[in-house]
Amino acid sequence: MAYPVDLHTHSLRSDGVHEPAELVRIAAERGVQVLAMSDHDTLAGVAEALAAGERHGVRTIASTELNTESEWGDVHVLGYFLDPHDDALEERLRWLRENRGRRIELMVENLERLGYPVLIDRVREIAQGGALGRPHLAQALFEAGHVTSYDAAFDTLISKDAPGYVARVGLTPLEAVELVRKHGGVPSLAHPFTVDGLEALLPQLVAAGLAGMECYYGSHSVSSTVEYRRLARQHDLVPTGGSDFHGRGEHGRLPGGVFVPEECVAALEARKRTTPPASIPA
Ligand SMILES: [Zn+2]
Ligand SMILES: [Zn+2]
Repeated sequence: MAYPVDLHTHSLRSDGVHEPAELVRIAAERGVQVLAMSDHDTLAGVAEALAAGERHGVRTIASTELNTESEWGDVHVLGYFLDPHDDALEERLRWLRENRGRRIELMVENLERLGYPVLIDRVREIAQGGALGRPHLAQALFEAGHVTSYDAAFDTLISKDAPGYVARVGLTPLEAVELVRKHGGVPSLAHPFTVDGLEALLPQLVAAGLAGMECYYGSHSVSSTVEYRRLARQHDLVPTGGSDFHGRGEHGRLPGGVFVPEECVAALEARKRTTPPASIPA
């Protein structure tokens, strides 16, 4: 049988395999009593999961997992106790989903309008299959003869405040924590082992409103769980956990397949704030 609490799972509404109701049914059959369906950057399946939870007697927590972009490695922020009908949040998440990775394409469109056309396919060739970045675009601008040097492309066309520039699209880890707080949810840091510089980043996230950290995770060794629990205690974070079940066998655990302390649900819920702190703009 499974452990009764699982605060990290995915459905077909992001990169999981199962419909939300199916995910809840699988969890219920395994004996899960409290489930968070935390699809990446969307609340799309949450209402469906809540309804299925009522049918199956599973307490389902409205949640999401926010991806972020920064120099801190893979920082994913789980947001719990959100409003499944929060259209403003869903709209913001939709915008982020659609524009992630489109930044360089948008800059190419800008440059075209400004009279400096380059082929996006050439930019992709220069990047050789890697993530597109401004250096590739600068190279393409130089090759096309629009500028006299690679540096000139940066300086005159695509540096910050230059006419072709488009700002990075995506949340920073701090913005993700703040977004969850702004929408009344409770943020917890997912799978901390994927973060580069965790001990330096944590105090900043805590200051922004982070309330929990996923200390219990399928691939954590006993010693790393102990270490994450120590860090959680140090920063007054609720130790959370989950299977990160997607349905394909990745992360190795089925719903309820990771021990999670049952008391963490009430502890997380107690971290909800009725009014956002003054530091967060409305
Ligand atoms: Zn994740
Ligand atoms: Zn996940």
